Amino acid sequence: MEAERTGIVLVLCAPSGTGKTTLTRRLLKEFPRFEFSVSYTTRQPRDGEEHGKDYFFVTEAEFTEKQKAGFFAEWAEVHGNYYGTPKEETLQKLAAGKDIIFDIDVQGASQLHGSLKQGCYVFILPPSRNELERRLHGRGTDSEATIIKRLANAEKEMQQAHWFNAWIVNDDLERAYDELRSAYLAATLSPACHPALVSSIMKGWRDNG
Ligand code: 5GP
Repeated sequence: MEAERTGIVLVLCAPSGTGKTTLTRRLLKEFPRFEFSVSYTTRQPRDGEEHGKDYFFVTEAEFTEKQKAGFFAEWAEVHGNYYGTPKEETLQKLAAGKDIIFDIDVQGASQLHGSLKQGCYVFILPPSRNELERRLHGRGTDSEATIIKRLANAEKEMQQAHWFNAWIVNDDLERAYDELRSAYLAATLSPACHPALVSSIMKGWRDNG
């Protein structure tokens, strides 16, 4: 039964090279109810990135001002740049019944979990160190030094993966995607997303019985 419900957050954390972007795109395509959470960042736009679509690109002064004013639901420094999720906008979308996908780092996910428990926090794991290294080389976008840094970061991130709702090993993209959509769909069945469901079924229960 597809009932009225509030939105939920789906937070995807993964070391780079784990296939998070591909999985996110598939979810956005299959479920029109999803919106992608557009973060604020102080890093420079890359070729092809659009302000307001990929990120809101701001200066460090603008970021700090917003952070002090409580504008962010979570924020973190990642690889020397600041990143943050707007709070009000997120809450408004959830109240309007939108589901929101977040691509944020582990520190940010943990902060968000502190204020927004309702949802699904997924950590995507590489099958092994060797396979992750092979994929990072295969992308051809990173120098050897960057690959070594990414592998070390992956290890640190995996050490913080214990509290997530779901762990998915991306050794086979189809299976990983099936597991991800199952985790998401299961989370949408939480009573917290359907505050009026039981009362609407119970309405008139006695009169008709
Ligand atoms: P990139 O600069 O490559 O787009 O992203 C670098 C890292 O920052 C990724 O791990 C991404 O998940 C993380 N990130 C992007 N937006 C946010 C955000 O709003 N908050 C936090 N905590 N991390 C973010």
